[in-house]
Amino acid sequence: MREGSDFMPQYNNHKKNTPKKKFEPRKSNVPKRESKDTSEKIFTYKPDMNVAQVAEGLRISNAAMIKKLMGLGLMASVNQIIDRDTIEVIAIDEGFKVQDEVITDVTRFDEMNIVDDPKDMKKRPPIVTVMGHVDHGKTTLLDAIRKSRVVEGEAGGITQHIGAYQVVRNGEPITFIDTPGHAAFTEMRARGAKVTDIVILVVAADDGVMPQTIEALDHAKAAKVPIIVAVNKMDKASANPDRVMTELSEKGLIPEAWGGKTPYVNVSALKKMGIDELLDVIQLISEIEEFKANPNRLAKGTVIEASLDKGRGAVATLIVETGTLKTGDYIVIGNTYGKVRTMQDDLKRRYQEALPSQPIEVTGLNEVPQAGDIFMAFTDERLTKDIASSRQSKQKETELKQVKKTSLDSMFGQMESTEKELNIIIKGDVQGSIEALKNMLEKIDINGFHVNVVRSSVGAITENDVTLANASNAIIIGFNVRPTAAVKQEADQQGVEIRLYSIIYRIAEDIESALKGMLAPTFEEIVTGQAEIRETFKVSKVGTIAGAYVTDGVIKRDALVRVLRNGIVVYEGKLGSLKRFKDDVKEVRQGYECGFSIENYNDIKIGDVIEASQMKEVEVD
Ligand code: GDP
Repeated sequence: MREGSDFMPQYNNHKKNTPKKKFEPRKSNVPKRESKDTSEKIFTYKPDMNVAQVAEGLRISNAAMIKKLMGLGLMASVNQIIDRDTIEVIAIDEGFKVQDEVITDVTRFDEMNIVDDPKDMKKRPPIVTVMGHVDHGKTTLLDAIRKSRVVEGEAGGITQHIGAYQVVRNGEPITFIDTPGHAAFTEMRARGAKVTDIVILVVAADDGVMPQTIEALDHAKAAKVPIIVAVNKMDKASANPDRVMTELSEKGLIPEAWGGKTPYVNVSALKKMGIDELLDVIQLISEIEEFKANPNRLAKGTVIEASLDKGRGAVATLIVETGTLKTGDYIVIGNTYGKVRTMQDDLKRRYQEALPSQPIEVTGLNEVPQAGDIFMAFTDERLTKDIASSRQSKQKETELKQVKKTSLDSMFGQMESTEKELNIIIKGDVQGSIEALKNMLEKIDINGFHVNVVRSSVGAITENDVTLANASNAIIIGFNVRPTAAVKQEADQQGVEIRLYSIIYRIAEDIESALKGMLAPTFEEIVTGQAEIRETFKVSKVGTIAGAYVTDGVIKRDALVRVLRNGIVVYEGKLGSLKRFKDDVKEVRQGYECGFSIENYNDIKIGDVIEASQMKEVEVD
């Protein structure tokens, strides 16, 4: 977790009070460095500063900055982003005091650091994320915890997955993020950690520390949050909790039992053993850490999940980080806006108000936001719309800048006659599958040719996507979503290709072949004609012969054919024979009848349509 970012839990925020407006030295009235006088030299920190920007702020050369970083054991280039801690070390050495940039522009609410008067801060539930290696039992554990609330006398009932839930233990709620890390969801996991106060690291006692355990641990450490180790599958005969402790101690997680600081809890998610102890440890940590927020302000928080629901439109699960979200509030989420129509939890209970740390599924949004987006509530509709539209234009600007860059790159690329990237826009119905797809596509590399995902988001394919695709020479991939007729028309006009899928691996296959095509685009399939099957005859030894009528173009003897039934391709192959009456012929043209067989395919039916095509060599440009 970056310090100074929005994801910083409130309990850390009051440490750094709003910087007082101080004299900001200008280049002209400051002695040319060297002076280690700390009195007035202020370095203003903004998130994601790179080496060059920091060097400028500290008024030293890039080379000097890089040298200083090397002194700290960091090899960095001029454009590399450096974290706040490192900047602070160097700034102090240069005699600067580091202060966070004070943002007053309300359209940048997501970067704002809300600081409340400590007396307004009230206790809030901890937000917990479960991480660990695949198959170590994250899902089972989240499920066991969810079911534990029945014991507390809460409604058992049917739960729906909304991405987060709360359980009450000893009268106190605990919030769990219900998206266990999966290998393909690294990005989501990284985001998950930002709205997290405590990480539960699940390690299977029979398997020990595995690669993703270490990865998860690194995320948790970066987020600077307390870690609880849940040693799972203790019901198994092969369980070896000591081994887990030894292996994790080597990574710095020394168990309390061994005099260290990390709590280890032995559990069996499957047998629901040790769950209460785990919840107790969470509450103990909450007591110590004193997680707090101000409920008496307009809400601000993060999107955990978002999707397009067939009946309810755009739906998003939000976690309120500070303030109270109310139905009827106007909210800006990411770059979209809306008015909170309904709020419900994973038990489908309705709420009028959502308090800090409370996960809630809201409807009433105009578009589907993205997981990880920040939201903020406002009372004024006009203002909300203005903020959203100004953020939208800002996003468009940045996207266009990127696009310009890509086109420039490709211009240079063309000079070397190589285009190494296939630009893609991904639209889908749920964030999870989009992330998985993006990860999958970005991994494809065919002799250096790869995919560049220009945009990926939840929601239907819009005109905006078509415009971006046109500008960036991208193709649009729709996964379980479709464009409206108007958008389709727009795409046709602009010559933008939209491909629709419902099976993820098909997309990967197609993209791979497209990239191979970029490697050697020597052949192209040209459709030459169509014929309609009017009769079929079974001929022993030969198979089925079709009596057909050529409705369009020409059917050639060496054609590749597709059998279409009700517009769906049921077979692809080659012609086995082509005849007019009894004679073999080379081709049959539109308006004539013919007879043919298809190699290795006898299931031809009356009414089927045959599409004939030929591979034609095309020029490589
Ligand atoms: P995830 O990939 O980390 O979410 O793991 P899952 O929760 O899907 O669990 C992987 C497998 O381990 C499943 O077959 C579970 O039934 C099994 N499993 C999870 N927890 C336990 C446990 O406490 N004991 C035993 N014996 N099996 C478990």
